[in-house]
Amino acid sequence: MENMSGQTLASPAVLILLGPPGAGKGTQARMLEERFGLVQLSTGDLLRAAVGAGTPAGLAAKAVMEAGGLVSDEIVLAILKDRMAGPDVAKGIILDGFPRTDGQAGALDALLAEAGQRVTAAISLEVDDAAMIARVAGRYTCAGCGEGYHDEFKQPRAEGVCDKCGGTAFKRRSDDNAETARARLEAYHAQTAPLIAHYERAGVLERIDAMGDIDAIAGALGQIVARVSV
Ligand code: AMP
Repeated sequence: MENMSGQTLASPAVLILLGPPGAGKGTQARMLEERFGLVQLSTGDLLRAAVGAGTPAGLAAKAVMEAGGLVSDEIVLAILKDRMAGPDVAKGIILDGFPRTDGQAGALDALLAEAGQRVTAAISLEVDDAAMIARVAGRYTCAGCGEGYHDEFKQPRAEGVCDKCGGTAFKRRSDDNAETARARLEAYHAQTAPLIAHYERAGVLERIDAMGDIDAIAGALGQIVARVSV
């Protein structure tokens, strides 16, 4: 990915975006990717691709994902390790939706240690639970470029046409409905939110108020990334 703003980081960063479904992790990860030339690694995207391709991992993950639960650490770690072996990750990565459990956080620390690396920063996108259900339930993306939209909060400027690539096909995730969103939020609080303390103890935690405007949040995130990656 080309670095659009010409900003380069002194060393390859390993950034984690923490936050419940709907907090804006995917949107913000894509913006950081463009701005800093980092690579977004979304285990949700990797799992959806595995489901779409009908691989054994995808077949095992499908029902769990549709119910809003967490896929087993074994499957997620296998998929992530495979992706982390790609040559492009040397530019630095933004982990979006991973780690989500204690086991995954420990496995990530061990994997990075093998390569003489560590987590640069874990950034917690702090949001209000009730608002998250509404955000998730109305969202959809451009089928061509992945730009995110929302029925209520962010419609394309021209109806039915993607602002970014001009595409006219859009898609919705099957787990982006109010009922599944509630289950995903519960899984977040039970299994993922405790990781905030893990990264606080490691001295790499950053918190951001992620209830506001997308560009303002991106600005605050960019400042953190620039500060921690020196
Ligand atoms: P996401 O796109 O991050 O919202 O993930 C969509 C779904 O994929 C989640 O609700 C989980 O079922 C599954 N998933 C994604 N990442 C993970 C992970 N790190 N651990 C377990 N399940 C995951």
